[in-house]
Amino acid sequence: MLTAWRDHLSPCASTPKPTSSVIVVGAGLAGASTARALAEQGIQVTLLESQSAPAQQGSGNAQGALYAKLAVKPTQESALHLLGLQFSTNLLKQLPPQEPPLADLCGVLQLATSEKESLRQSQLIDAQIYPASVLVPVDADEASRRIGSQTPFSGLYFPDAGWVAPADYCRYLLDHPFITTRFNQTVERLTQCGDSWTVHTHQQVFEASYVVVCTAAEAKKLSAFSHLPIKPIRGQTSQLSAHEQGPQLNTVVCGDGYISPARSGQFCFGATFDLHYHNSECRESDHQININHLAKAIPAFTGITPSDCDGRTGFRCSTADYLPLVGEAADFDLTLERFAKRRHDAKSCQDTEIPRLKGLYINVGHGSKGLITCPISAALIAAMINDLTYPLPKTLIERIDPARFILRDLSRRRI
Ligand SMILES: Cc1cc2nc3c(=O)[nH]c(=O)nc-3n(C[C@H](O)[C@H](O)[C@H](O)COP(=O)(O)OP(=O)(O)OC[C@H]3O[C@@H](n4cnc5c(N)ncnc54)[C@H](O)[C@@H]3O)c2cc1C
Repeated sequence: MLTAWRDHLSPCASTPKPTSSVIVVGAGLAGASTARALAEQGIQVTLLESQSAPAQQGSGNAQGALYAKLAVKPTQESALHLLGLQFSTNLLKQLPPQEPPLADLCGVLQLATSEKESLRQSQLIDAQIYPASVLVPVDADEASRRIGSQTPFSGLYFPDAGWVAPADYCRYLLDHPFITTRFNQTVERLTQCGDSWTVHTHQQVFEASYVVVCTAAEAKKLSAFSHLPIKPIRGQTSQLSAHEQGPQLNTVVCGDGYISPARSGQFCFGATFDLHYHNSECRESDHQININHLAKAIPAFTGITPSDCDGRTGFRCSTADYLPLVGEAADFDLTLERFAKRRHDAKSCQDTEIPRLKGLYINVGHGSKGLITCPISAALIAAMINDLTYPLPKTLIERIDPARFILRDLSRRRI
């Protein structure tokens, strides 16, 4: 059972130790997927969220593209993205029918809108790494036929991909009898007390055996994660009414931006990238950027103006190596001590075990790819907590280990 106290009580005051409770912090795609993965395994989850509803931050867009941009040479990043895409599509295929739909695996066309991208796509096809079930090359005529509107560009067609409505999907995931949601609870501090964790919000204290932090770039505010190289990247999406006489799309189209087929009579397209501007107000100039990218890919959208668009901004959480941070937290001070030799020999301490903050997990840093990386990361954390078979190979688990940046910075003598 999960225990909640009033504030100011000593977190360690003779309380029974909970054995099978989990607190998930954050109700975006990462938190909702983690809560659901645990609940599906019979675990009672309490989800704490600072906002008054799920998916109010990065995961709040009306629609997002579900697709992987695969590298020409197989990389760990590509492997994670492909596995993540397949994992997400398998989950989405099991969704009950709903109106409006939560997702549609209607295919994704990745257009070659620049010479660089055209070359990359040719190399990818020549390399023959991926089967036709993953991607198919199409010329501009075939691309136009699949889209349902003219495009001047050739591209790659991903048949088993599509779009998801992330905000509605988060609400769906949290609707489970084993998940209790507590909104307006901003987590400010975590303390370890024996085998359990105490979670302090601005008004209450909670305790559980395991805590999973899914608060995107806000995770840095918690002392256990203050060393992580994560930062928010602002993005704006634009929404446009889909008129009967206007273009109707059959697939998601990605070029310099992306657009999905209309949902509830609205197209959602975007999105901008801004590392330095942090205001959440929508800007006309950003709508214009989205419109320019859209009209370049599908000329039937030429003539739209920013005043035709509604929009929304959100913040992606990006990491220094563009891979998410998923797994059990490292004990920062002990890791520095135990791996100190790395400052002089980057290859030393190969067999040394990373000291962990037992029971404290993190699932953040999903950048622009949360729809394909959050669900598989959530499944990994649920498997770690429940000691089940992991959905990812060891090499990939190491690549997304939240401890990796401590080891990297020691080798670079930054810490
Ligand atoms: C404009 C834009 C377009 C995008 N397009 C796509 C796309 O097409 N395809 C794709 O795959 N991905 C896309 N993404 C990325 C994707 O949306 C993210 O990767 C994903 O939403 C990340 O989810 P998250 O749960 O990690 O973060 P968030 O959704 O930001 O969730 C974090 C949650 O933690 C809560 N929180 C923060 N601090 C605290 C605290 N102290 N206590 C309690 N709660 C707290 C927040 O309120 C929030 O609800 C896009 C992102 C943006 C911004």
